[in-house]
Amino acid sequence: MVPEISKSHAPDKMSEDYWRKPLDLDKYEIPHGTIHLIKERCKGCEFCIEFCPNDVLVLSDDFNSKGYHPPKVAETDTCIACRLCELICPEFAIYITENESSKK
Ligand code: SF4
Ligand code: SF4
Repeated sequence: MVPEISKSHAPDKMSEDYWRKPLDLDKYEIPHGTIHLIKERCKGCEFCIEFCPNDVLVLSDDFNSKGYHPPKVAETDTCIACRLCELICPEFAIYITENESSKK
């Protein structure tokens, strides 16, 4: 039988409310990424918005030439360059470069 996890103990956002922290966390620098969007390829599926672990992207009010709303960056500083959006985008419309300052 699987034990039930109380919702009150589950963090709303892993990035803000860690359940556990590694003891040597201070030794590591969290990477930061720059988001590059090729608006004309976007089909507005919102996968990148939905699955970003840090809620970095939101839907914009802009239209591309196909009539879709591409995403835009809501909070630049919170991108951790995990590249999940890059992997999940079915149209290869978004990619990430890791900022030099965050490279080891
Ligand atoms: S690289 Fe990761 S954190 Fe940055 S926008 Fe994409 S999914 Fe979000
Ligand atoms: S996953 Fe790709 S196609 Fe879908 S909204 Fe994001 S950038 Fe556009």
